[in-house]
Amino acid sequence: MSKALRLSEKWFRRGLWLVALAFAGFLIGLGGTVVENLPRVEQTYTTENFIDAAAAKAARAALANAQAAQEEASQKLEQLELQRQAAHSDVQSARETFTNWLATRRATERAEQDPELLARTRKLDELRAAERRAQARVQEQQQVQLDARQAEQRTRQALQALEDAAREQLEVAWRQQELRVFLYRLALTLPLLVVAGWLLARKRGSIYWPFVWGFVFFAGFAFFVELVPYLPSYGGFVRYVVGIIVTVLIGRQAIVALQRYLERQRQAEQLPDSQRREELPYDLALARLAKSVCPGCERAVDLKDPANDFCPHCGIGLHDHCGHCRARKSAFSKFCHACGTPAAALAQAAPSEG
Ligand SMILES: [Zn+2]
Ligand SMILES: [Zn+2]
Repeated sequence: MSKALRLSEKWFRRGLWLVALAFAGFLIGLGGTVVENLPRVEQTYTTENFIDAAAAKAARAALANAQAAQEEASQKLEQLELQRQAAHSDVQSARETFTNWLATRRATERAEQDPELLARTRKLDELRAAERRAQARVQEQQQVQLDARQAEQRTRQALQALEDAAREQLEVAWRQQELRVFLYRLALTLPLLVVAGWLLARKRGSIYWPFVWGFVFFAGFAFFVELVPYLPSYGGFVRYVVGIIVTVLIGRQAIVALQRYLERQRQAEQLPDSQRREELPYDLALARLAKSVCPGCERAVDLKDPANDFCPHCGIGLHDHCGHCRARKSAFSKFCHACGTPAAALAQAAPSEG
């Protein structure tokens, strides 16, 4: 990856990768805060936003009335029930007294007691009538209570119907809101991805490459990671489709780059040996030599072999002899390691060497 061989340059590059990561980290933090604050653009809906307000108000008032009426009817019914029980026990005790009295009278058979018999019978009848009236009042009140309960049920059902209709509308509104929020986020993150793609394609070789890579990390993270919790059910499709498109673009780029590289190599291998050596960047040539590959064609060569002066694959010169002291040296060295004579001066002085 790294083409730099100078020690400081290597460390500067590592430092610049840290700059890229820090830049990405801060951008992600900022982007995350912005995305998090997006839902506040939308209001939070409840069923109250969709219910028929006038009808709901009337239904709720009717419900409260019916509940109050039912409560009142129950209380009255309790009172009347108590009164009926009192009347019933009056009748019970009067009947007992009368039965006892009648038994005594039969035993004594006293005729002068007939008017008293009539009076006692009448008294008992009156008590019975009072009990029947109490019973009737209880039944009347039971009817009132039943009416109140049924009225309450009806208003409750009406209110329920209103609320159900509102809930359906609420769910529709929720789905639309979810879609809108998702589209806002997509509208925010997709252009980032496009910009990142453009930067990667055109500017990654610039001296400001740490910022390019920082932005690319940020855009990728924002689209493929931060968007995830806000995806509606079908949002996964969007992510995968964009992922496929990005992969195809990068893959195509890589394939084209490989073909271009092979073509460049093929053309370079047809150039004269000295020109090829001059066109190769010095650090790149040294890096390839360090890996025991030919700097020209990148195929493996045995550099330790003292007879190996040319690459057997592409013919580029690997070793030559110093024009001043005749020491065998690397053809890519800029100076003779034995006497320090510049290689360029030698090339001019003895161009046929090598
Ligand atoms: Zn070669
Ligand atoms: Zn020399």
